[in-house]
Amino acid sequence: MPSTQPERAMQSSKVSRWDQHGREHIVRVSRSGVQRALVCETCDWRRRAQFLPWLKAEEHLAEAHQATVSP
Ligand SMILES: [Zn+2]
Repeated sequence: MPSTQPERAMQSSKVSRWDQHGREHIVRVSRSGVQRALVCETCDWRRRAQFLPWLKAEEHLAEAHQATVSP
């Protein structure tokens, strides 16, 4: 299947943030058809997202782990 859209350089397969104690929290993002599957390595939180999976990962890291510092 040809693709005319270039891959966005900012896309990655994980989102990592540090909390105020310097601990790293990671949400992994994997492709699952048209959706993305998000899995938090810290608390096993899972979610599927079709749009903006990285934004949802950042929201989870901030709300659940107070991890907002980008490495
Ligand atoms: Zn979590």
